[in-house]
Amino acid sequence: MKPAAFAYHAPRHLDEVLALLADDGVESRVLAGGQSLVPMMNFRLAVPEALVDLRHVAELHYLRVAADGALEIGAGTTQAQLLRDPEAQAGWPLLVDGVRHVGHPQVRSRGTVCGSLAHNDFFVSYYEVALEPGELLVEARFPAVPAGSGWSFREVARRRGDFALVGVACLVTAAQTRLVVFGASERPVLLAEPDEVAAAVRPLDDVHASAEYRREVAVDLAAAALAEAQERADG
Ligand SMILES: Cc1cc2nc3c(=O)[nH]c(=O)nc-3n(C[C@H](O)[C@H](O)[C@H](O)COP(=O)(O)OP(=O)(O)OC[C@H]3O[C@@H](n4cnc5c(N)ncnc54)[C@H](O)[C@@H]3O)c2cc1C
Repeated sequence: MKPAAFAYHAPRHLDEVLALLADDGVESRVLAGGQSLVPMMNFRLAVPEALVDLRHVAELHYLRVAADGALEIGAGTTQAQLLRDPEAQAGWPLLVDGVRHVGHPQVRSRGTVCGSLAHNDFFVSYYEVALEPGELLVEARFPAVPAGSGWSFREVARRRGDFALVGVACLVTAAQTRLVVFGASERPVLLAEPDEVAAAVRPLDDVHASAEYRREVAVDLAAAALAEAQERADG
């Protein structure tokens, strides 16, 4: 299918983007990498009247370490740019490994880090995000990871590059253990202990996998991820 007719804007400055999005008379959508939005428009699941493309807004294209040690990623930065960045690789290995699991190289070369967050899979419910119409996610910030931390990212997908049926990310620091299960509830679930996984997740049955399968895999992945993260922390 082809998308319905829409207007296309290619602003060069952030204030132009915000002004276009603030126009209440037009239902506009931000176009970042287009990796989710364009297929949705082709299937007419999204029918925006106008697209506001971020590609030419130079001030949104950055990846930098801030004075407080956090990694700051502008809305124009692609997943591939994050994966190539040596500072991100060294300081945020869990983030980098997670992004490496997004789709295929072609998808990551256009898809943006902020686009993934804005699209959902964050985080009110399925495809329901906290963004309001007219809002722009300008930047994502990832706090510095303490030295000596251990991490692990594991997922099960039908084929390499597919969306995960279920997955787990784990970070172990001297102060705490953080374990997130995704794909097994309407939004990612943050847990302190792998023992909580079975009770905390509420998977769906769908054509890809049963709820029971997803729950069992989540429990196994959580245990394996925790063990790997602890080993990396100890080493
Ligand atoms: C074949 C294929 C496989 C994929 N596999 C995976 C996968 O395994 N895991 C995974 O997580 N994703 C996967 N994706 C999705 C991919 O990660 C997309 O890149 C991502 O979902 C959206 O990023 P984008 O920059 O392309 O956003 P777009 O498609 O341009 O936008 C998506 C939505 O977010 C909004 N938006 C984007 N940026 C902003 C912003 N800065 N502020 C406000 N709203 C914004 C848009 O208006 C739109 O509603 C896959 C996509 C494809 C095509």
